[in-house]
Amino acid sequence: MNALLIKNGRLLDPASGRDETTSILLQDGRVACFGAEADSQAGDADVIDAKGLLVAPGFIDIHTHLREPGREDKETIYTGTRAAAAGGYTTVCPIPNTDPVIDTQTGLKFVLSRAESDAVVNVMPFAAVTRGQKGEEIVEFGDLVYYGARGFTDDGHPIMNSEIMRRALEYSAMFDVPILDHCEDAALADGGSMHEGHVSTKLGLKGIPAVAESLQVARDVELAAFTGGHIHIMHVSKEVSLHHVRAGKARGVKVTCEVTPHHLTLTDDELADFNTCAKVNPCLGASDDREALIEALLNGTIDCIATDHAPHTDIEKDQPITDAPFGMIGLETAFAVLYTELVLPGRVPLELIIEKMTSAPAKVLHFEPRGTLAPGAPADVVLIDLDRKWEVTRDGFLSKSKNSPYVGRQLQGGIEATIVGGRVVYRDGRIVV
Ligand SMILES: [Zn+2]
Ligand SMILES: [Zn+2]
Repeated sequence: MNALLIKNGRLLDPASGRDETTSILLQDGRVACFGAEADSQAGDADVIDAKGLLVAPGFIDIHTHLREPGREDKETIYTGTRAAAAGGYTTVCPIPNTDPVIDTQTGLKFVLSRAESDAVVNVMPFAAVTRGQKGEEIVEFGDLVYYGARGFTDDGHPIMNSEIMRRALEYSAMFDVPILDHCEDAALADGGSMHEGHVSTKLGLKGIPAVAESLQVARDVELAAFTGGHIHIMHVSKEVSLHHVRAGKARGVKVTCEVTPHHLTLTDDELADFNTCAKVNPCLGASDDREALIEALLNGTIDCIATDHAPHTDIEKDQPITDAPFGMIGLETAFAVLYTELVLPGRVPLELIIEKMTSAPAKVLHFEPRGTLAPGAPADVVLIDLDRKWEVTRDGFLSKSKNSPYVGRQLQGGIEATIVGGRVVYRDGRIVV
């Protein structure tokens, strides 16, 4: 029987309200018990001395582009899940905008079998809403749920056809799985490279107005209200969108949303030197947007944090800003960025950040009892050194791609170890399986 005793760490588990220095025993892939009971039942278990470390549930990322199949030059299930483990993530949800798009049971089976052989963390895939993500014809919804789709999304593309979104949300209500939407009015956003505001005007770049996002958020909330389906707004980024989410929640609509670490910590000023690594979709907003997102994280309008880890090659990113693709990687910097930029300055409590990266995404996707360290829950754990300072370097990434705007930054908060199903997969800067 495999068993692991983690001693002397500060156990922080927001879902159970536990925050104390104690032992935790992991046995046969599950959380077994705590404290003196854990010490006495450990027997010949392996032991990790976590003195001075934070012990938390492993992070859950519900928005990860792993690029396989089709763009293995950018990332694979092998490399992407290693990057996840290095970032403290124990579960990721790959986005189906691959080549081919994951829109059939064959595609889904490929991802699951590749995860079985190559992944070092749990992989909970989504399927596309429409065939080929063309926005025209809905996939075999029930079939894909049966074969393991944990949600449906055409992310990478907005769903412009409201009739399609209506039908998708009706299926959502029927099968109790969320529709995750990349909210963007295609016509309003067309040709834009960054947020429409004074920075875009100064740079002479075509901007994307905030209303391109908020219009679709408003429509999705209305359709969720109409159908009873669950709409999850991906990577909410603009203040004006939050009003619709808040109003929907107040009306009892099944609407949830996520925010990325980059939208919480960066603004469109990052584009001032034409840094293509800061070109993301949705684009980085103004400082008012960033402040509103932080406020919405604190007051519960925003349900959880997700990375939108979007790997791209240097060749693609080394183009003029108007031609470079949207996206940045995020798995390996997410926690340290949030800790350095939001927790240390006293903006957001550590416990809330951990909750929004663990039990909160588990709740959105019905992954419970993942996301907590309650007895019987999967033994997915992260050990963090909150005092460790480190510099983000290109060479340091386990991801195949290096497109991060945080390269060169000093951050605080280092992942010491990542444990998946009771097995240590990452420790002291290395994958150990
Ligand atoms: Zn998106
Ligand atoms: Zn995405």
